[in-house]
Amino acid sequence: METRFQGHFGKQKNRVNSFFHLIFPNSCVHCGNELSVIRDFLCFGCESKVNWSEPHHKKIENRVQQGINDKHVVSIYTLFIFEKEGVEQSVIHHLKYRNSAQIGNNFGRKLALKFLKKNETNDIECIIPVPVFHRKKFDRGYNQAEKISKGLAAVLKVPVCRMVSKTTQTVSQTKLTREERLLNVNNTFRASQELLKFKSIALVDDVITTGATLRAICKEITSVNESIRIIVFSLGVAKFQ
Ligand SMILES: [Zn+2]
Repeated sequence: METRFQGHFGKQKNRVNSFFHLIFPNSCVHCGNELSVIRDFLCFGCESKVNWSEPHHKKIENRVQQGINDKHVVSIYTLFIFEKEGVEQSVIHHLKYRNSAQIGNNFGRKLALKFLKKNETNDIECIIPVPVFHRKKFDRGYNQAEKISKGLAAVLKVPVCRMVSKTTQTVSQTKLTREERLLNVNNTFRASQELLKFKSIALVDDVITTGATLRAICKEITSVNESIRIIVFSLGVAKFQ
C-alpha cells in the first residue's frame, strides 16, 4: 500500500516529469518513439544514425571555405552532415518550424564543446547569428540561428550581438542553382560599424549548403572591418552541392 509520503513524492515526481517534457519533447524528433527524461530529442537508435562530421572535418572545412571564398574565415565548425530524409533533417525541421528553441540551445552547446576541444583559448569576442528578414522573424516568432548562438554563448561566455541585419526579403535558396543563390543574397545584408571594435567574431548558421549566404554576410562584415577574423559555426553542412 502506498504511504502518504510516497503518494506526495509520486505527485511531485510527475510534476517534475511534465515540466521536463515541456522543455524536452518526450518523443524522439525523428522516429516518434517515447524518450526517457534523461534523453533529449533523439532516441539511442536515431542518435547513432547521425552522420557526425568529426572524421571528415578537414574535407568539409575545405569545401565550405571554397563556397564562402573569404580569407577572413579562419575556421569552420559543424556538427553533422545534413542529408534529406535523415535524422539530421528532423532535427533541423524541429528547430526551424516547431519553435523548438531548446534544440538550438542544446546543439549550440555541443558546437561550443567541439570548438573548445580543438582550442585551448577562446579569443571570440562576440557571436553573430545569420539574420533573417524582420518580417520573416515576425511570422515565425524567432530566428533559429539565434537559438544556436545562445547555446554557444552560454558555454563560451561570449555575448550574442545582432550586428548584421537582413535588409531585403529574398526568395528561399532551396531551389536555386549555385550561381542563382549568390545573386539572390548578394547586397541584401548590412553590417554595423560596431564591428570595428572586434578582432575575432563567430558567425552562426543552421545549415550550410553552398555557402552563398555566408559569403554575402562575410563580404559586408569585412567591408566594415578588413582585419577581422571570422569563425563559422553551423549545425549541419549539406552532403551534396
Ligand atoms: Zn528515434
